Amino acid sequence: MLDFAKFTKYSKPGPRYTSYPTALEFSDAYAYDEYIKKLESQDESRPLSLYFHLPFCKNACYFCGCSVVFTSKEEKMLRYIEYLKRELEILSKHLNCKREVIQMHFGGGTPTFFSAPQLKIIIDEIKSYFPNFIPNAEISCEIDPRHIDEDQMRVMSEAGFNRVSFGIQDFNEQVQVAVHRVQPYSITKDAMDLARKYNMVSVNVDLIYGLPYQTLGTFKETLTLALTLNPDRFAVFNYAHVPWLKKTMRKIDETTLPEPDEKLAIMQYTIDFLTS
Ligand code: SF4
Repeated sequence: MLDFAKFTKYSKPGPRYTSYPTALEFSDAYAYDEYIKKLESQDESRPLSLYFHLPFCKNACYFCGCSVVFTSKEEKMLRYIEYLKRELEILSKHLNCKREVIQMHFGGGTPTFFSAPQLKIIIDEIKSYFPNFIPNAEISCEIDPRHIDEDQMRVMSEAGFNRVSFGIQDFNEQVQVAVHRVQPYSITKDAMDLARKYNMVSVNVDLIYGLPYQTLGTFKETLTLALTLNPDRFAVFNYAHVPWLKKTMRKIDETTLPEPDEKLAIMQYTIDFLTS
């Protein structure tokens, strides 16, 4: 049982801690030379985990706390691919890329904003520098269900991707409109079917509580619907409203955000529901 009094006492907006240190602690003070020194002093017997940030999205979801470049310009994406090639070349001079790779993750942004042929170029380029992926390495991609087609899923599957993560956040239409991310259930279901067709062994779905107009009642419905997709994993985040850091969050009407008590009730229910 959650200690509601303690949660309320420490109720303060802050960054989601999907990484440690959190994004807010990242700093320019960590200079290029230090990074190179770190790369060159690695324990070579350790396998590698690789992360690639593919930052492009067409439209802003107002709750988004990610590092995103909003664009629909093809040339920006082509330039990104060229920069990525250069980055890999530089990296290869300071790191033994022949070490085993046990994990690779594509995050964003929307990695599937890149077309199937572009994704293939990116993956082939990475593998030309890092050829030693172990069999069954965990290779995963974050996917916006509104931006995935069969060709993209096939390219990833053929390249060994075996895990995907779908952003849902909430199925309630009023909530979706308020956060500028309208994504009907059928679209998410189609994406899920595609993932299963291409043998993704683990499918995660992301939900967020604390969004505008959410109540315990609406979130119960979202959880029930999400469960019908039969995901292997749920990530349920607390929405951190930090409009002084993220401009797009200023478009959210703060009077429509649920109160801390409601959010805690949602969290408690989510834990009980998924555990049972
Ligand atoms: S699609 Fe994902 S990364 Fe892009 S704006 Fe929406 S939440 Fe952020």
